[in-house]
Amino acid sequence: MKKKFLLTAAFFSALVASAQPGVIQANKKIKETNPAVIQTIKTVPLKTTYDFSNIKICTDIVFPVGNLPERDFSAVKAPPRINNDGSVSQVGVSRQPLAGETNKMWNPGQTLTVFLDPAGSSEFIRSKVRFFAQQWENHANIKFQFVNTINAAQIKVSFVNNGKSWSMVGKDILFNPFGAFTMNLGWLTDRTADEEFRRVVEHEFGHALGFIHEHQSPAANIAWDREKVYAYFAGEPNKWSRADVDINLFNKYSRTSTNFSAYDRFSIMHYSFPAELTTDGSAMPMNTDFSPTDKHYARLIYPFPPTPSNATGTLRTGDDCDMVDFVVEYGVVASDRIEFKMQFGRMDNKTVTWWKQIGIPLTNNTETLVAIQNHSLIPAENNPVASVQVPVSQINTNKGISFSKAKLLGVHTPLGFKWNVLPALKGGCRVTLTWKKDSCL
Ligand SMILES: [Zn+2]
Repeated sequence: MKKKFLLTAAFFSALVASAQPGVIQANKKIKETNPAVIQTIKTVPLKTTYDFSNIKICTDIVFPVGNLPERDFSAVKAPPRINNDGSVSQVGVSRQPLAGETNKMWNPGQTLTVFLDPAGSSEFIRSKVRFFAQQWENHANIKFQFVNTINAAQIKVSFVNNGKSWSMVGKDILFNPFGAFTMNLGWLTDRTADEEFRRVVEHEFGHALGFIHEHQSPAANIAWDREKVYAYFAGEPNKWSRADVDINLFNKYSRTSTNFSAYDRFSIMHYSFPAELTTDGSAMPMNTDFSPTDKHYARLIYPFPPTPSNATGTLRTGDDCDMVDFVVEYGVVASDRIEFKMQFGRMDNKTVTWWKQIGIPLTNNTETLVAIQNHSLIPAENNPVASVQVPVSQINTNKGISFSKAKLLGVHTPLGFKWNVLPALKGGCRVTLTWKKDSCL
């Protein structure tokens, strides 16, 4: 009994020794060792060799979090919601997960420049890398632009064929004062199968976008057989120290610095490993493409600009029981302008008549006017439907749309009501106003 205790204690001290500060990054504490795991290690004799020769694994290069700029979501912000009384509500950008270090993510909509080193790669290899890297663009709002000079690139890719593929993670790439390569694709050749290109390139460019290994997600719970894992990775081609294994496999990212989904064993960001490396006999399949969760969360982390659904409702100007129906449609005209349309409507079997007008405030302190009229004795003056398209750049969103109508004796009269809707509109919108009631009678 005493002996057993001593053995356990010795194992614990070995683990602690491997977790010295300076070896392990400060923000990645070793997870508490599960005594049940130790028991298993102690009683089951270890094999000395395992055949994992076909397993190729990627190592992250992760820097401690530096002073990275805040992420900028302005390019893809949802416009505020328009309520059915015409009032405008602010809506926040929803922030949701996939394992990724949030502050290492680039801005949604950003274009990242990429250099593929011709040394060590053929045009065939580079064309495959371009193609599979760009698969991310279908799921994340990010663009890869391939450039011909290394100094013009943020992501600098080498092709040193040493069996090691790795990448810096997200904006860590900015900490690269000497212009070194930020990614290596270490086993691609002209004979590599498409599936392997896809697996490796999607995975490494996932790191470049800030995604970390899924098995290190705070939500992951893999029953690693730690001693076997240490033994395996100590061999060729990895030659990892125990600390390397801790950093690349066992340590999990903190819940506070990370956005993460429920653990997704099918993620392209997950290592593949054989069942021998776990105490419960679970293996990791070789994931060779994005999982559904990868696609879903890539879109949440790098959102595309939202297209809101149509907004509809009724404005009340406060004058004479006025009622004006509105419809706001998104994405229906050119994206650099907004269309404003007016028409007469009916309510309770009464058609609205005379003259109505709105004014769209411009940055030069004037208004673009849209007027309708259906009661003139001169037919040519009647204009029951009118519309105008105004360049977004000329609209003053700090002011509201003004309303005027013909009142007693046909006097054209500005109303006190202003519709403060302009911040909720974006290029491509059409606003249709149907004036359906203009008196209390
Ligand atoms: Zn990796």
